Amino acid sequence: MTAPQLRASATCVEARGLALGLRQAWRLRLPRASLKPWQRAWRRHGLFLTASSTAFRDVPGGLLVPAADGERGVHLVVLSTGKELARACLAAELENAARGAASSQTELQRMHAAHRAVGAAYGYPPCCVAAFCDAHAEAILARKAQRSGDEALIQLGDNGLAIARAAARTQHFDPRLAALPGALGERNVSTLRHLPCRFDCPASITLAEALLADVAATDERRFLRLRDGLRAPIWMDTAGHAHVAQSAQMTGAQWRVTLSDGSLVHAPIRQQPGKPVLPVLLPFHL
Ligand SMILES: [Zn+2]
Repeated sequence: MTAPQLRASATCVEARGLALGLRQAWRLRLPRASLKPWQRAWRRHGLFLTASSTAFRDVPGGLLVPAADGERGVHLVVLSTGKELARACLAAELENAARGAASSQTELQRMHAAHRAVGAAYGYPPCCVAAFCDAHAEAILARKAQRSGDEALIQLGDNGLAIARAAARTQHFDPRLAALPGALGERNVSTLRHLPCRFDCPASITLAEALLADVAATDERRFLRLRDGLRAPIWMDTAGHAHVAQSAQMTGAQWRVTLSDGSLVHAPIRQQPGKPVLPVLLPFHL
């Protein structure tokens, strides 16, 4: 997740999710200068803010890489109505990041238990957390075993594999679920902040609808923007980074995609469920 708007707004979907009880905690990244003002601002709304003492590189995809000396970094921050829960989520996140890739089954299980615990606190549907844990385990096992035939899978990594699999499972690309945390930054117009297990996941649709109903009651313009989601397909490159597409046409077995900068790229039209690949086109609004 890239740093969101630095204005602490009680009407943002994350804060409304907390107010509505749809999530118990909210994770984000903030530059050091924002920590104190945010702490003060949210205290007035009854939220506790806890932040990592270490600064990390502001890279998309959820990876926590410590910032080098002199490099301007961002702090991992958790906000919650409960001080203990905020601290527990932050500790679990930092422990997972420090642990690196699990090298044993026990480590992997501990890591996934931590993912499930923070995922539940952040209001992510269990099916979506489980799908991410599966992709994570498979990416690690493939890398460890270096099985021949798994080269493509090894290259995808857990995030890429989770996205490619979500796409392969999807029957209808629901624009409300065009949530690719960290990839689209402020252009992410979904109310969701997790990668769905599929882009028509019923639990994610229910969550998106609950948040949208709340926005509808308070801000009609924002509701219309969020209801329609991103009004464009998304092209995921081989590194698992998302690009907003200007247009996409089918040519033979491929999508021919024009990106916002005018460049032309391709992606296969059909994903084989057993063999998810990148690049992939997520055909929202097509
Ligand atoms: Zn799901």
